[in-house]
Amino acid sequence: MTSLKSFTTPIRYVKGVGEKKSKLFSKVGINTLYDLFWHFPSYYEDRTHIVPIARTSPGKRQVIQGKVLLIDKVKSGKNLSIFKAVVRDKSGLICAIWYNQDYIIKILKKDQEVVISGKIEKRFREKQILVDDFEILNGVEDSLNLKRIVPFYPLTEGISQRVIRKIMKINLEENYPYLAEHLPLSLKKKYFLIPFREALINIHFPKDFFWQRRAYRRLVFDELFLLQAALALKKRDYKKEEGIKFKVENDLVKNFLNSLPFSLTPSQRMVINEILEDMASPQPMNRLLQGDVGSGKTVVAITSLLAAIGSGYQAALMAPTEILAQQHYLRAKEFLSSLNIQPFLLISELKQKEKEKIKNEIRAGTVKLIIGTHALIQKEVQFRELGMVVIDEQHRFGVMQRATLRGKGRCPDVLVMTATPIPRTLALACYGDLDVSVIDELPPGRKSVITRWTSEDKRRWVYQFVSSRIREGRQVYFVYPLIEESEEIDLKAAQDMAERLKNIFSQFEVELLHGKMKREEKELIMRQFYQGRINIMVCTTVIEVGIDVPNATIMVIENAERFGIAQLHQLRGRVGRAGLQSYCFLLTGKRISEEAVKRMKVMCRTNDGFQIAEEDLKLRGPGEFFGTRQWGMFDLKIANLLRDQKILNLARREAFNLIRESPLLNNYPLLIKAIKRRFPYQWELSKVG
Ligand code: ADP
Ligand code: MG
Repeated sequence: MTSLKSFTTPIRYVKGVGEKKSKLFSKVGINTLYDLFWHFPSYYEDRTHIVPIARTSPGKRQVIQGKVLLIDKVKSGKNLSIFKAVVRDKSGLICAIWYNQDYIIKILKKDQEVVISGKIEKRFREKQILVDDFEILNGVEDSLNLKRIVPFYPLTEGISQRVIRKIMKINLEENYPYLAEHLPLSLKKKYFLIPFREALINIHFPKDFFWQRRAYRRLVFDELFLLQAALALKKRDYKKEEGIKFKVENDLVKNFLNSLPFSLTPSQRMVINEILEDMASPQPMNRLLQGDVGSGKTVVAITSLLAAIGSGYQAALMAPTEILAQQHYLRAKEFLSSLNIQPFLLISELKQKEKEKIKNEIRAGTVKLIIGTHALIQKEVQFRELGMVVIDEQHRFGVMQRATLRGKGRCPDVLVMTATPIPRTLALACYGDLDVSVIDELPPGRKSVITRWTSEDKRRWVYQFVSSRIREGRQVYFVYPLIEESEEIDLKAAQDMAERLKNIFSQFEVELLHGKMKREEKELIMRQFYQGRINIMVCTTVIEVGIDVPNATIMVIENAERFGIAQLHQLRGRVGRAGLQSYCFLLTGKRISEEAVKRMKVMCRTNDGFQIAEEDLKLRGPGEFFGTRQWGMFDLKIANLLRDQKILNLARREAFNLIRESPLLNNYPLLIKAIKRRFPYQWELSKVG
C-alpha cells in the first residue's frame, strides 16, 4: 500500500469501519481515510494520572485503578437501570456507578483489574464514581481511553468515542511510515514546525499537552499555507494569461467623471486609478473593491465599465437580486443618458420574448452595457466581446458563478464589490487570490446615523418623531424582517402592519414593497418613493441592498432582534446618504437573547462597517458570517481565523514567496499533492484559471 492511494481509500474500506459505520461516518463528513485523519478532536481530557482511591476528591473528574470486589444490579425500572461495582486499591474502596448500560453485567467480572474515569461524588458519606469510561486491564498496557490524554471527537449518534479512537489509532499506526512530509524543509526550520507525521499522531493522541500544542501549531500553519498556496497559484495562473489592454483614457470615462455633480473623494480617486491602471495593462484584472455602505462604490464601478465600453468592448454588471439589478439599471440609465449609452436589463422575470431579444443583441454586440442577475450566467447568454465584468455584493455569489461570468469573455477584467466590508483576515483567507482596493472614507458632509434601540412601549414616541420629520419633508422606511422559513407568516405581518400604518399616518402616503410583488408594481413604487411622492415605505428586506434615496432619513426596523448584524448595517446604510442628519430605530421585544442584545449595542455604538464586520465575525464565527455556501469551499478543519491571524499572515507571506520563486512548484511534488488533496476546489479553479 502506498501512502497516496491509501489516503483516498473510501471510508468503508478503511480498517475497522465497514458498511454500516461508513454511513455514520459520512454524516460527519468523513468519506475517505484522509477525511478520517483530518477529523480532529474538539477537546481532550487528561486521564494521565491515576489517583489513589482514598485521595479522590468529590466534584472532580478523576481516574482510578483497582480490583473489582463485587458487582450488583441495583435497580431496574422502565427507563432506568443502575449497576454498581465496588472497586478497591491499596488506599481504599469506592463504588463505581453505571447508568443504563446493561452490557456491563456481561463483561465486568469479579477480581478483574480495571481503570475507571469519571466524576467523583459523595453520597451518605460514601464515595462513588460516576463512570465516563472504563477499561478492563488484561496485560495490554497501551490503553486508548484511559491513562493518557484522551481525545474527544465531534460525532454523530451511533459512533462512540471509543470506536473512533480505536479506528483512528490503528489506521494512524498502519499508515505512519507513509505519512510523508510535504512542507519545504526551510519553512519547517524557520518556524520550528514538527514533522507532519508527528503532528498527525500528536493531534489525535498527544504524548502530553506540550506536544499537542506543537502538533496544533504545525497543522494550523500547514492548513493555512496550503490554502494560501492554492490561492497564489490561482493568482499566478490568471496573471499569466493574455488579457485586454483597454484605452482607459477614453472620452466616455472623461465625460462621465466630468459630469458628476460632486467631486470624488481622495479614496475614490485612488481606487479608480488602481483599477484603470490594471485595465490598461495586458494582464487580466482580478480585483476586490471593499468599501462601507454609502462610500460610493457605484461611481467606481461605472467608471470601470465605461473604460471598457469606450475601448470598444461590452461590459456587464451582475447583482444578487432583481431589485438591486433594477436599481443599478435605473441609476446607470440616469448617469449615462448624456453619454449616449443605453444600458439593458436582463433578469429572469422578463417575458420570454424580451429575454430572447436582449440575448440576441448581446450576441450581436449591439448591447454595450448589460445589467442583470444570475440570469447573466446562463449558458444561452453569449457575448460578442465581453471585456469587463463587475460583480456586486460578491459574498452572495459562489466562486463558481464568478468564474462562469468571467468565462463568457476572453479573459475579461473582473471587479468584485462587497456591500459590507469583510474583516482583513477573512478577506485574505477567501479572496487571497484577488488584488484589493479599499475605499476607506465616506463622501464629505455625511453625518453618522443616530441609532437608538427601543422597545415596544416607546412606539408611540417613535411615531410622533416620524410624523414631525415627514412634515419637514423627509421620507421614512419601516422595515419588517422576512425570514425565509416563515415567509408566509412574516409577509402577512408586514401587510397587516402596512395597513395599520396607513391608518396611523392617514395624512401621509404609505406604501408596501416586497419581493413577491409584480415587477411593474415594484418599479412604480420605487420610482414614486424616489420622486418623493411616497412618504413612508413599508418594506420587507428587499431594500437591504443598494436602494439610494438621499431624502429618506429615518429608518424604523421592526423586530430588529431577528436580523443579523451585517444585515442591520446594510439596512441602516439606506439612510444618512445626504448631508442630512439621519436616524435609525431598532425596535425589539422586551425579552431578547443575549446575542441579540450584543448586536443592538454594537449597532448603537458605531457606524463603521469595518468595525461592525469585526464584531460580527467575533459573534458568529466565519462559517455563519459568510454563509455556508461560500465558506464550505474553504472549510478549515483546524485553523481558526480569529485566533490564528498571526499564523495566517506568516503562511500567506511564505506561500506567495514560494510561488513567486518557484511558480510551477517543480521541486515540490509532495506539496502539490497536499494542496490538491486539501483544497481540491481551489486547485481545480487554478487550472481552469
Ligand atoms: P455604495 O458604496 O454603498 O454602493 P453608492 O455608490 O450607492 O454607495 O453611493 C452612495 C451615495 O453617495 C450615492 O447617492 C452617490 O451618488 C453618492 N456619492 C458617491 N460618491 C460621492 C462623492 N464623492 N461625493 C458626494 N456624494 C457621493
Ligand atoms: Mg452599492
